Amino acid sequence: MRFLITAGPTREPIDPVRYLSNRSSGKMGYAIAEAAIDARHEVILISGPVDIDRPRGAAVIPISTSDEMFGAVHQQTRNCDVLVMCAAVADYKPAKVSKSKIKKRDANLSLELIPTRDILASLPKNRQYLVVGFAAETENVEANAHKKLEEKHCDVIVANDVSRTDFGIESDENEVTILFRNGEKKEISRAPKEIVARELIKIFENVCEKRLTKKIA
Ligand code: C5P
Repeated sequence: MRFLITAGPTREPIDPVRYLSNRSSGKMGYAIAEAAIDARHEVILISGPVDIDRPRGAAVIPISTSDEMFGAVHQQTRNCDVLVMCAAVADYKPAKVSKSKIKKRDANLSLELIPTRDILASLPKNRQYLVVGFAAETENVEANAHKKLEEKHCDVIVANDVSRTDFGIESDENEVTILFRNGEKKEISRAPKEIVARELIKIFENVCEKRLTKKIA
């Protein structure tokens, strides 16, 4: 199968030397890319700025801003069977990008932020590929993830609790809950991200297989 995977953070410029970003390390997305390659799938990885070696065998498309990721995802979904939106795309960006470096002054400075375009929500509803979203939550993890599954029209959502300091964001380990459109739920208990990634690939393969069998029947 052809996997399109997004990973890492985005950077939303404020001026030529400053940006807004988040703590995403890209480790989970890169581990999913590696696991997909190990399972003999084709992988295109759209990656924000991260400090990890590119997975051998994956075609990597580097991006920086949420708008660049939006464009790259829309271009690449034409040729994919599974889209895994693991990236921590910024939800807001500065309303204006200053052309010159903002000078320090003796006064408060306010930045106006506007919502970024939601990539998942912008995908066509009558699509052939499977769409997997991620939900990084600090509270009511399952309820919020369920809301995202509906609102962003995902087929599957992978939720994790990022309020935990022992695993999750920036860590080498993760623990996730997977929610499906039909109300089904699966859990992967705390394990290195490589192991969680391998389990996730098996789950995505299974969902694709079931969809295919349904279509043929
Ligand atoms: O709303 P929130 O950012 O928590 O949603 C997370 C999910 O939505 C992730 O799968 C992320 O890649 C995706 N997302 C997106 N476009 C955005 C922001 C997030 O597709 N602008």
